[in-house]
Amino acid sequence: MENSDEWELLESGLTEDEVKEFLRIQLPKSLAYQTNRDFLCKECFENNKHKAKQQLRKCAEENCPVKYNCLICENKNIASISQKNVHNHTLLDVYNNENGLPEKIKKIINELLENNPKLYPRQIRCYLNNNRAKYDIENITLKNTQISGYVYRYKAKVAPRTNNVEDVENFLANNLYFPTIDPNTPFFFGFQTNEYRPVIGNGSPANHTYIYCTTLKLLQLNCDTSNQEQTLFHIDGTYKITLEGFQC
Ligand SMILES: [Zn+2]
Ligand SMILES: [Zn+2]
Repeated sequence: MENSDEWELLESGLTEDEVKEFLRIQLPKSLAYQTNRDFLCKECFENNKHKAKQQLRKCAEENCPVKYNCLICENKNIASISQKNVHNHTLLDVYNNENGLPEKIKKIINELLENNPKLYPRQIRCYLNNNRAKYDIENITLKNTQISGYVYRYKAKVAPRTNNVEDVENFLANNLYFPTIDPNTPFFFGFQTNEYRPVIGNGSPANHTYIYCTTLKLLQLNCDTSNQEQTLFHIDGTYKITLEGFQC
C-alpha cells in the first residue's frame, strides 16, 4: 500500500462488533479522532437513503501516517474498514489492544443496565466493587472515567439521540426527584405529567413549556434560616436543551 490519498478497503460485510474485534487484534493500536453520522450509507443495499456512522481513526504509533475509516450502517449492522497510507513501523501478526473496559466488565454492565436502565455510572462502579468476588473480578482495576464513558455510550446506543420532544421527556423522566437522591444530583420538576410521565407543552401562550432543575443542596442553601436576608430564588433557563452534549 503506497502513501496516497486513497482509501484501501481492508474488510467489508462485518458487524460493528467484528470491526471492533478487528481493530483490537488485527491492527496496531489506533485512536478514534472523529465520529460523525452525516455519511450517506453505502454499506447495505437498502433503497431508502439513510445515514451511516463514520469513525476516523489513526494509528497510535508515533508519527505513523496510517488512518482508518470505519463505516457502520446502524440500521443493518453492516460495517467496513479502510486504510490510508503505510505504517512506519514493524507489524505483528496479532495484537491485543485493550480498548477501554475488559469484555467481562462490559457484559456485567450491559446486564445491569438492561434490568435497571436508570443506574448512574457511580452506582454501577459501587456495585462492581461490592461484588468483585461474585463475578471473579478481584484483580481488575475499575477506572471511574472508563465506566462512565462506557455507560453513556451504551445508553446512547440503546436510545439513539434524535433530539425530539419524546427524548426530552424521556430525559426528564430519567432525572426526576426520588427520596434518596444524592443532594448534589440535579433533578427536574415543574412540567405537566400524565400518569407520572413528563409531558412538555409546545411553548404556545396557552401551552407553556416549563422545565425546572435544581438540587437538594441548592434548595437547602436557599432555605437556610440563618441567612434569610440574602435568600434569592433564581430562575433561569435556556431553550437550547439538547442531548447532543450540551449541559443543561
Ligand atoms: Zn445502511
Ligand atoms: Zn502505524
